Amino acid sequence: MEARIKRIRTSFIDVPHKIAVAIYFAGCSIRCKGCQNPSLWNPLSGELMTDDEVMKKITNHPLAEYVVFLGGEPTDQIDFLIHLCNRIKQTTKLSIALYTGREFEVLPQQLTSNLDFIVCGPYRQDLVTNSWPASSNQRVLKKEFEQWNL
Ligand code: SF4
Repeated sequence: MEARIKRIRTSFIDVPHKIAVAIYFAGCSIRCKGCQNPSLWNPLSGELMTDDEVMKKITNHPLAEYVVFLGGEPTDQIDFLIHLCNRIKQTTKLSIALYTGREFEVLPQQLTSNLDFIVCGPYRQDLVTNSWPASSNQRVLKKEFEQWNL
């Protein structure tokens, strides 16, 4: 499978107190007013990568405890995202985080079953926090003992 990926970096901030491989998906159809990353809206802005190529970047990272998906909007390429999360869970001990402009309730269970940490909801300029998450409507969800703290 293939997806448009904008960049892959090491992250020290997206999952609190964890080192993560951060995978930025290209493209966002949500287009929140005041978005800080409009350069990531174009779905053709990234590089076409296979799941094998992305997995190699993940498994070659010497220190990562997490993989975090951001964008752009990772769930705009939902089939690839579900497939990649399945591969990560089946072949590594890494935990998985997702930043999405969509609400938890609309995410497919095939995806959430493999996630450990989610920051969800659209960015709202009128609710800006100047902190984290970026607007106060966004929820930080963690899975503990197979249950989400909804
Ligand atoms: S979901 Fe994220 S990337 Fe997309 S427009 Fe909103 S803030 Fe920007």
